[in-house]
Amino acid sequence: MSLYYKPDRKADWNFGGPRWRLSRSKIGLFQECPRCFYLDNALGTARPPGFPFNLNSAVDALFKKEFDIHRAGKTAHPLMEKYGVDAVPFQHPKMDIWRENFKGIDYAHPETGMTVSGAVDDVWVNPKGELIIVDYKSTSKDESIVALEEEWHNGYKRQMEIYQWLFRMNGFTVSDTGYFVYANASKDREAFDAKLEFEVTLIPHVGNTSWVDGTIRDIKACLTSTAIPEATEDCDYCRYRDMAGKKFKAHVEKNKSAKSEKNEQKLFD
Ligand code: SF4
Repeated sequence: MSLYYKPDRKADWNFGGPRWRLSRSKIGLFQECPRCFYLDNALGTARPPGFPFNLNSAVDALFKKEFDIHRAGKTAHPLMEKYGVDAVPFQHPKMDIWRENFKGIDYAHPETGMTVSGAVDDVWVNPKGELIIVDYKSTSKDESIVALEEEWHNGYKRQMEIYQWLFRMNGFTVSDTGYFVYANASKDREAFDAKLEFEVTLIPHVGNTSWVDGTIRDIKACLTSTAIPEATEDCDYCRYRDMAGKKFKAHVEKNKSAKSEKNEQKLFD
């Protein structure tokens, strides 16, 4: 029995329903494939969720605890000192709401009437009073993580830019430079000993939020159209769906012809 996947979501949670919001991850899905986005948000059938990454969540929770100690003390975390970032974790009464999934920071976009939202990992502040958007990431790779140069990292960068835009729309002054706090688990040890060791690096990203407003308008146009958008080329999900359909069709046809051959045989027996 499926525990939490609902292939036909209640209309309340779809575009036009009272609980629907344009989350940061939905914007990411629209950029990945407008057709899957439309199926999810206009028609109410989302992709099945992936398996939850509990180890990544554990790292995020520990980072949060660590930075919260410095937030309370208004002190710089050693990582900020190591990388020469003149900032401290930002104190604000809404910090916990901004970090909570399904709550987060939001903004009612006047031109489209859609509420845009996202739950941020952390916010720091520099001496000029500019907010710095921070995203925690974790992985396990042989090489040190010092830059995000792969094409698939663009999704991470756009994610940060949406948070920068959301905080600006909420009236804050936001630095163009945000940071990824990257924890990389080492496999280079004699034995596991029930411990993982991480190298933590800080990677800056100079964000550009100029695309966000236009994308939100494109999303509104997509959702209010009755036309089903194009699918992305080379998507593994669609290739799987296509192949599954073709195999079922071929299977049914093969069995049909086997049956009719049998029936024909019977006539001549
Ligand atoms: S290409 Fe198909 S399966 Fe892939 S994301 Fe788009 S609609 Fe979904």
